[in-house]
Amino acid sequence: VLEIIGVDKHFGAQHVLKNCSLNVAEGDTVVLIGPSGSGKSTLLRCVNLLESIEGGAIFFRNQDITHVDIKPHRLRQDIGMVFQNYELFSHLTAAENIMLAPMTVRGVSRAEAEAQALELLGKVRIPDKADAFPDELSGGQQQRVAIARALAMKPKLMLFDEPTSALDPEMIREVLDVMADLSAEGMTSIVVTHEMGFARRAANHIVFMENGEIIENAPSDKFFGGEVSERAQRFLDQIL
Ligand code: ATP
Ligand code: MG
Repeated sequence: VLEIIGVDKHFGAQHVLKNCSLNVAEGDTVVLIGPSGSGKSTLLRCVNLLESIEGGAIFFRNQDITHVDIKPHRLRQDIGMVFQNYELFSHLTAAENIMLAPMTVRGVSRAEAEAQALELLGKVRIPDKADAFPDELSGGQQQRVAIARALAMKPKLMLFDEPTSALDPEMIREVLDVMADLSAEGMTSIVVTHEMGFARRAANHIVFMENGEIIENAPSDKFFGGEVSERAQRFLDQIL
């Protein structure tokens, strides 16, 4: 569903993506790991057209999304993104946060959007929080509302950029559980995370980046079976 082919990008003199290639098939959960500054967020942002690329191509559902005719806002309806710092609208309830885009962008009726919001709140395991405002929710609950909000657009691909790294330890698990549920249901996703327990449980591919390069892309059974490059292993030794 996604083909990243030989993507290059600089920020000024810094070469942040070096000939990066990555295929994501429908239903895949790809976990992307690597040191700080290796280019993980930039790569995700390129997929969502939040950054432009200088060389290479990115195909999403067989369409070259770096082509000038592609409208970023249209593409982002099909690609959900969840960041480290969930930015919910503070003046809207959990349900209203989830209803907003379907109503304004897709023209879904309020009743239909509300029914969907309640269903999604069930899916992210906070069915009783529809009327809560963000500041009445824990960080983990807010992040799950952010996931539900992204799902409300029925994306074909989800991008998660360190979705749990701003959370207290006791809340990390509940967010990862929801993401693992999505993977099990066949949602295609790319997840930047250092939660290797989640990777082991939910990923079918592990990709390791360093200095703007994709050093390793391994099926997770191989990766966790010990067939890891020395550089990836050195990184794992540091984080575990
Ligand atoms: P982290 O694990 O810390 O989130 P990362 O792997 O996500 O790191 P990126 O955020 O993709 O790394 O950054 C890759 C490199 O590009 C870094 O050296 C960073 O300083 C640089 N960079 C990122 N965004 C910009 C920007 N908007 N302008 C200039 N340089 C940038
Ligand atoms: Mg990052």
